[in-house]
Amino acid sequence: MDIKEYLFRNKSIKILLLMLLFLITSCASKKINSSQVGPEKPFVLTTFTILADMASNVAGDRFAIKSITKPGSEIHGYQFTPSDLVKAKGAVLLIENGLGLESWIDKFSSSVGNIPKVVLSEGMEPILIEGDSYQGKPNPHVWMSPKRSIYYVDKLLEAFSKIDPDGVEVFESNANAYKEELVELDKELRSYLSLIPPEKKILVSCEGAFSYLAQDYGMEEAYLWPVNAETQVTPRRMAALIEKIKEKAIPTIFCETTVSSKAQKEVAKESGAIFGGNFFVDSLSMPDGPASTLLDLQRYNVRLIMKGLAAELNPE
Ligand SMILES: [Zn+2]
Repeated sequence: MDIKEYLFRNKSIKILLLMLLFLITSCASKKINSSQVGPEKPFVLTTFTILADMASNVAGDRFAIKSITKPGSEIHGYQFTPSDLVKAKGAVLLIENGLGLESWIDKFSSSVGNIPKVVLSEGMEPILIEGDSYQGKPNPHVWMSPKRSIYYVDKLLEAFSKIDPDGVEVFESNANAYKEELVELDKELRSYLSLIPPEKKILVSCEGAFSYLAQDYGMEEAYLWPVNAETQVTPRRMAALIEKIKEKAIPTIFCETTVSSKAQKEVAKESGAIFGGNFFVDSLSMPDGPASTLLDLQRYNVRLIMKGLAAELNPE
């Protein structure tokens, strides 16, 4: 080999080596980049923000969780949009509450195709709505009782373990930790609400969403309409509520963040009660708000109840 040929070969080897090095480093940097952004995780879709929070607590970082409805949305009669359908594409699981909460879910499910789904309330004994046009129908607001929302956690654990068997241990440990927090929350709410004098333990809201909470903590409830799917304020309903508030001398009444509180403020004016503010029930607050998790939502609501019904106890 003459010197010219040697130099040429050497140059080719150098170029080859450089190309190889480039390939290796570009692959490596791609890997680092993707781990910085987070690899594409399988994602799970929930119908509303509260279920998204519960699902995140059990899933940990094994699934990305998305909610179809946004914070503050009315969820019972939600009108889904074409962009909601696009968002659902590729979901590995659809999580819904059931008990008639999401009146739009069958239409949504059939529009997005075959996403496997889990109904968190399935198999549980619901409280039935009393009176009014919804007589005998199940009350869907199970998550409003910390004790009963443990049932949802077990359902999530079961569903996630089925679609991701490698994650069973993670899901179990997350579910147990979350259930402990819910048990603690139950104790906390009980200790607060038990301080309210029995004659003042009447919770007046817009929607009849507090049946589970009321039953579990020995309260009575009264409301303007049974479920938000039918937010019609009839003069008969208003008059009956005003009469009850006057008769029981209820000091403070409330409404919820996902509906208009106009009618309830009218009831307050007519009955002499104070309007005590809006509860978070069917939706979390925005992430920087006071109820960005189910645990915070319950704590926010109980503070509002205490302030309205037992202000002298100064729960703050
Ligand atoms: Zn509701």
